[in-house]
Amino acid sequence: MADPQQVVVIGGGISGLACAFRLQQLGSPVTLLEAADSVGGLIGTSTQDGFLFETGPQSFQGTDAMLDLVRELGIEADLCMADPRAPRYILRHGQLQKVPMSPQAIVSSSLLGVGSRWKVVSEAFRKTKPPSEEESVADFVRRKFGHEILEYLVAPFVSGVYAGDPEKLSLRAAFPSLEEWEREYGSILRGAMKSRPPKGTTSGPPRLCSFRGGMATLTRALATHVGQNVRGGVHADAVTRVQTTSGPRYEIRMTQGGRQETVSARALVLATPAYTASHLVAQISSPLAASLSGIAYAAVAVVASGYYTHQLSAELDGFGVLIPRSEKYHTLGTVWNSSLFPERARDGQFTITSFAGGVTDPEIMDKTEKEIAAIVQQENEHILEVTGSPIVSAVWKHPKALPQYNLGHGHVVRAIRDAEREIPGLFFSSNYLQGPSIPKCVEQGFQTAHAVHAHLKGRALAAS
Ligand SMILES: Cc1cc2nc3c(=O)[nH]c(=O)nc-3n(C[C@H](O)[C@H](O)[C@H](O)COP(=O)(O)OP(=O)(O)OC[C@H]3O[C@@H](n4cnc5c(N)ncnc54)[C@H](O)[C@@H]3O)c2cc1C
Repeated sequence: MADPQQVVVIGGGISGLACAFRLQQLGSPVTLLEAADSVGGLIGTSTQDGFLFETGPQSFQGTDAMLDLVRELGIEADLCMADPRAPRYILRHGQLQKVPMSPQAIVSSSLLGVGSRWKVVSEAFRKTKPPSEEESVADFVRRKFGHEILEYLVAPFVSGVYAGDPEKLSLRAAFPSLEEWEREYGSILRGAMKSRPPKGTTSGPPRLCSFRGGMATLTRALATHVGQNVRGGVHADAVTRVQTTSGPRYEIRMTQGGRQETVSARALVLATPAYTASHLVAQISSPLAASLSGIAYAAVAVVASGYYTHQLSAELDGFGVLIPRSEKYHTLGTVWNSSLFPERARDGQFTITSFAGGVTDPEIMDKTEKEIAAIVQQENEHILEVTGSPIVSAVWKHPKALPQYNLGHGHVVRAIRDAEREIPGLFFSSNYLQGPSIPKCVEQGFQTAHAVHAHLKGRALAAS
């Protein structure tokens, strides 16, 4: 077999690409293997009849780190930012209600009853302690704010981020700052206020961003910088670890176009979903494989539609709408893409993207794409008062879309981190570790790259 590669990254979604990009910048030769023909993973852009649709994520939070990356990649001219004042809506009794975004807005909000509004506003003056045992998001919200806030504010938000079930999601794993703030300050409002950066040190909360050419601009640019060592259409089938006199080596068996090949590496980064990582590490550590296979995933169907503006009874002005389960729709929420990023459609037209499925409605995935599109379009007729069929629509079904940070998830992450220490040269970087958002995946990819680089430097020093 040829000399081992320095590092092999398996998985060319945003996590693997960010890791490979940083490794290359640190001077560690890297090869990235991606099963699909093109990189991006859940991130994908499709143009149809003059509309730009996203197959998964629609935008990302423009944190300082993300904006730095955009500049490093030289794609800042393509960046577009949404209006930070764009209102968000929640459906209640069939009516769109603005989500209150500040304590002052909560006081006058028509989304919540007087009792709930008082519970939120007065929370800063009450002191509570988190229970000793791990708590679900739902139990936490009921304990602190009551059922109405859970049903009409938190649960829709949770389905917007995780497509998850708040009764199962772990507060500690999914929203760690909330637990920390309660523990430290006795109140999450006080914690949020104390954690705000001092005035004048930032330009305000991060704005929602995308690219004129769509979200795939980011993953394509990362792949271009990593260069010819990105190998698409390569499925990693199995991994073994071999102990040699110069340290451990990973042998990766893979298939490309029906042909099998084996490459070996001094360090291996698994940037695939957890169920694939579980399969790949099975011959290295069965307890680790079992931990990884225990992470549940939610299915999500993405339905993108393009309409004429005259098909709307009123202008859709804002981020979009989230739909509580008690409203009895299949649609979890709809993003008003053209309102956030007008370049998503031609003049006189607009585009929206709806999401269906999630942990609370997995059965919808048994339907065909055509059936799902029909259900969502009919629901949008009621919710958004859109009339008639769309000019064009497209559906992407993601059967295993989002990892669930359910009760016990912290133990799984600890088991993975322990394995990284105990099995030198093996690393993990993916959306099931530190948060599913794109900025979190990038942050995690960069951290992994630095850890891999330090590992290789340590090996080189030991050998010299
Ligand atoms: C519908 C939806 C909407 C979302 N919206 C947003 C949003 O608006 N903003 C936001 O910040 N985040 C959003 N997210 C979350 C975010 O998009 C994802 O968490 C993130 O893109 C995951 O990246 P990843 O690289 O960790 O995983 P993935 O994108 O899943 O990449 C893993 C890659 O590994 C490859 N792979 C798997 N097995 C193998 C193998 N054996 N050999 C080789 N390659 C393999 C896969 O083909 C894939 O390309 C959304 C997610 C979904 C599903």
